[in-house]
Amino acid sequence: MTTNPRSAYIHIPFCASKCWYCDFNSYCGLESLFDAYVSALTKEIHSAQRSLTNELQSVYFGGGTPTVLPTRDLCSILKELKEVIGVSDDAEITVEANPGTVDFASLGELRKAGFNRLSLGVQSLDDSFLRSIGRTHTRDQALNAYKTARQVGFANVSVDLIFALPGQNPTDWTRALDGFLQLDPAAEHVSLYELSIEEGTRFAQMNAQGVIAPVDEDMRLEMYESAIARLAEAGYEHYEVSNFALPGYRSRHNTTYWLNESYYGFGAGATSYLERKRSRRISNPSKYIDAINAGSDAIEFSERLQGRAMLGETIIQGLRMLEGVDLSRLQAQTGLHPMSEFSTQVESLKRRGLIELVGDRLRTTHAGLLLLNDVSGEFVTVP
Ligand code: SF4
Repeated sequence: MTTNPRSAYIHIPFCASKCWYCDFNSYCGLESLFDAYVSALTKEIHSAQRSLTNELQSVYFGGGTPTVLPTRDLCSILKELKEVIGVSDDAEITVEANPGTVDFASLGELRKAGFNRLSLGVQSLDDSFLRSIGRTHTRDQALNAYKTARQVGFANVSVDLIFALPGQNPTDWTRALDGFLQLDPAAEHVSLYELSIEEGTRFAQMNAQGVIAPVDEDMRLEMYESAIARLAEAGYEHYEVSNFALPGYRSRHNTTYWLNESYYGFGAGATSYLERKRSRRISNPSKYIDAINAGSDAIEFSERLQGRAMLGETIIQGLRMLEGVDLSRLQAQTGLHPMSEFSTQVESLKRRGLIELVGDRLRTTHAGLLLLNDVSGEFVTVP
């Protein structure tokens, strides 16, 4: 079981504007920090040489909106990773992009620099819903960005969609999904996010003022289940609670997280998981830059996961995948036997029909998938 990471995440914490539902580590109006941020990332890459001794198999530029940075900066960060750390020839190299922040020239440059997977934040193909969640792009811009990505040679495109938007009903959602399914050629991958109203967001304020209301639970469930059925009909494998892929196009990078394997995170607020230690860098971009320039590793929080806590966390991550957790692999990874450490919880969840043991795999049933938070809660262990 390798502990030396083969996956790297690069966080770009900048956005053109803040979506009303967003509680990610992302900021607007910080263009003046771009150069200093790229230079701090470059310094980090050089310092990471000690920990990253294997060629990377997956690289993921996420955000924020990576594509608000000048394209040449994204390309130079990737070049630095290739030269300093090493990126395998067949690595999956993803960049997240928002429609409206890319065009033929920028997508072409990204593709030429080696990015081979595009994750496009479409969210909805309905202009009125896009406006109602504070997205700044239109349906046409989303469709154009998708088409352009194909023209410049992206052969692996993932689309993000959100459901349970305030005011959205199952018919609206079916229409949104139909729009996605009409993409030609079909997207290789789709991530479906269920909207939740998070503290500190504009939606939280609007909810408190009674301007919007969360979609009720039954409707959420109906939307999720109809998506599962329609995507399956269209040939997508539902391989993780929120993720669907055409055969051969599962996200290799995100699978690292679900298998609880090591990865290295660069940038403000990025998390790393190295030698069973999870650490997070300073979230505020300006403070992060100052810390890196002062020679620090900019870590603001870290915890070592071991024993039962690590086992529990690996099960929680693994149960997100529909194929579930490979128990032998888990034992080799953690040194503990999952069925003895969590025998009471496993038996209780089995009795309730939420998980099942199939061969050497523990996985959620369909009912368990719909109640994943409850299932996961059983494996939470305070370290
Ligand atoms: S583009 Fe993404 S990261 Fe930026 S504000 Fe919107 S949801 Fe948040």
